[in-house]
Amino acid sequence: MSQELKTKAHLIYINGEWSGADLDELEVVNPANGQVIGCVPNAGEVEAHEAIEAAHQAFQTWSQTTAYERAGYLKKFHALILEHQEELAQIMTKEMGKPINESRGEVASAASFLEWYAEEGKRVYGETIPTHTQNKRLQVWKKPVGVVAAITPWNFPAAMLTRKMGPALAAGCTIVIKPSGDSPLTAIKMVELSEQAGFPKGVINLVTGSSSKIGKAIMENDKVRKVTFTGSTEVGKMLIQQSAHQVKRLSLELGGHAPVIILNDANIDAAVEGVVASAFRNAGQTCVCANRIYVQSGVHEEFVDKFTKAVNLLKVGNGAEETVTVGPLINQASVQKVRHHVEDALAKGATLLTGGVSLENDGGNFYAPTVLSDVTASMVVMHEETFGPVAPIQKVETIEEAIALANDTPYGLAAYVFTESVSQGTRLIEQLQYGIVGWNDGVPSATQAPFGGMKESGFGREGGHEGIESYLESQYVSMGIN
Ligand code: NAP
Repeated sequence: MSQELKTKAHLIYINGEWSGADLDELEVVNPANGQVIGCVPNAGEVEAHEAIEAAHQAFQTWSQTTAYERAGYLKKFHALILEHQEELAQIMTKEMGKPINESRGEVASAASFLEWYAEEGKRVYGETIPTHTQNKRLQVWKKPVGVVAAITPWNFPAAMLTRKMGPALAAGCTIVIKPSGDSPLTAIKMVELSEQAGFPKGVINLVTGSSSKIGKAIMENDKVRKVTFTGSTEVGKMLIQQSAHQVKRLSLELGGHAPVIILNDANIDAAVEGVVASAFRNAGQTCVCANRIYVQSGVHEEFVDKFTKAVNLLKVGNGAEETVTVGPLINQASVQKVRHHVEDALAKGATLLTGGVSLENDGGNFYAPTVLSDVTASMVVMHEETFGPVAPIQKVETIEEAIALANDTPYGLAAYVFTESVSQGTRLIEQLQYGIVGWNDGVPSATQAPFGGMKESGFGREGGHEGIESYLESQYVSMGIN
């Protein structure tokens, strides 16, 4: 049975059935205008355990299918997502505010993970190890870990889902999805498409509702063998503690505080373009957003001038309008946080070059794209994730100073470097404690490349050939032979 997505009430998906109509509902609100656009069931521990049980039963047969059979389902799912790209993009923009063109791009990127892992599943080779004795043969067999629980954030509701579903399903795992309550409708539509792709009952399950109750069930149920989480460092740390009881496998893609370093020999026009793309994509609500910009003194003035002009060209508004480039923030708490970061910086001596105000547009959660200069390390904006459209710029004299400032954070997700010198860029990047570096590139993510952080930005990598490893167990087999 497929549910009707045009109605406002949506359902959860357990063992191939849409259910939860009898539960309380949670509203989903459009952050561009405050309108309620749908409701989802407020599920809790009971439904989470049911979904885990369904995934556990389905694992017994799904794990025995061949990688080629699984690739067939994933490719159908990939094609259906592309067929429904516009519909998914419209849902995404409505529920979390992203400009419609960014939503279309995210849907295409989300689909690409399914295609890539459909193929990568066929290359899970295992190993034959040279023996040390005549009467033994040594091998490593690869096996799916089992039931996976995937907890995803609101800011990339499609791509964060398939970056987990693709490798998990390709490896032979079954999955229970818990999307963010702020943007569950994209995930529900995607699961509906997975149903059309024909995945067997119980292979894919989805529950919406209380994150603490569903999270508790996931962490307490010993049938869940792996939890893959993308979200805040705060919740990630809690999951680490909860995972200890059953030694559950974890992959954690957590928060970041990305530095940008622009050296004297950089191509400033390219740097401006790259930093605008990084800092203001998704209204600054990405884990890899440029959070701190360190510019060497020789090009500081030129960069600040050109960058401020480029930021002034951004258009704020409802992301559903084709020409809008900066949508709303997810909620009023986010607007308050951005306001606090900017006010703190100004009180401590920063200069406001543009923005610095929240905008009263149609009841939405808008904040003007903001550029600050003369910032210092003592300001909150320079060490806490802002998650909003704010770009603080600090002048530095030397490369050593820039490296020391860039690494002075508990985070280690993404960093950006702009220099035309291969030697300087190489030496600089070798010293950066970051899992991802964009060198003359403000948008470094790619389906086929490993994405993930160091330090408190988490562990494990998603994307690329590394992305499937965490859904596999290595089983070493030593065979005695005559
Ligand atoms: P969040 O508050 O940590 O939420 C992430 C997910 O965890 C949501 O589904 C949330 O559900 C759920 N959750 C919240 N409390 C939970 C609990 N006690 N037990 C189990 N699950 C729980 O993060 P967010 O605000 O959605 O996302 C923004 C954060 O994600 C930022 O820090 C950003 O940097 C990070 N992020 C990282 C990456 C990366 O790849 N490294 C990518 C994107 C985002 P509810 O929303 O329903 O409460």
